[in-house]
Amino acid sequence: MIKVAIDGPSGAGKSTVSKAVAKELGYIYVDTGAMYRAAALGCICGEIDISTNPDAAAEMVSYMNIDIKYGEDGTQLIYLDKENVTDFIRTPEVSIGASDISKIPAVRLKLVDIQRKLGEKSNVIMDGRDIGTYVFPDADVKIFLTASPEERARRRHKELLEKGQNVTFEEVLEDMRYRDKNDSTRAFAPLVPAEDSIMLETDGICFEDTVKKVLEIINERLEKNAL
Ligand code: C5P
Repeated sequence: MIKVAIDGPSGAGKSTVSKAVAKELGYIYVDTGAMYRAAALGCICGEIDISTNPDAAAEMVSYMNIDIKYGEDGTQLIYLDKENVTDFIRTPEVSIGASDISKIPAVRLKLVDIQRKLGEKSNVIMDGRDIGTYVFPDADVKIFLTASPEERARRRHKELLEKGQNVTFEEVLEDMRYRDKNDSTRAFAPLVPAEDSIMLETDGICFEDTVKKVLEIINERLEKNAL
């Protein structure tokens, strides 16, 4: 099975780009961030403060059933204990909770196990923070997609406003910086580019051109690997 790893910080456009690329190639697309978000949502609903009580959060996650399914149009749906929670995982509270929960090794091990199993079933484009370094160190193609914090916050702010969420640009930028720091400084599977990943900076590059570039990289790399 072919595995394409797309890593990078929050708001770099990984999920929209990966989704479009997966559709073009006929691969399944897995947004691993949604799994960390579902785990955080479960803890928030269970009234567990993830940052001050990581042991209780880890225990709660150990009982959770987190599953990915696909809608008729191919969009990824995320299920928590058999309930479709796709529409509830994009709030600022869940974003911070996901970042906090992702520092807990037991949580990561459980979710990584599910991610690896998904990669055994079909060709996959998986996006996250540690796909090329930890989940699939043997991925056929590894891309590290990034952009400046201001550009990423601008994009995320626009998205949230379109969804009707009332947040300021400064709040989004602050949240982005908090998550960048958490993600890149955690001890276990931090956000760092894999040594053999291809860096793609997307400041000033539109969505369509980024998709084109990613497809080019994948095709070139797969051709090279086949030689
Ligand atoms: O990608 P997204 O922003 O939805 O991810 C939510 C959070 O989950 C991130 O801030 C990050 O802390 C965590 N995450 C992770 N490893 C992954 C995917 C997401 O630690 N592979």
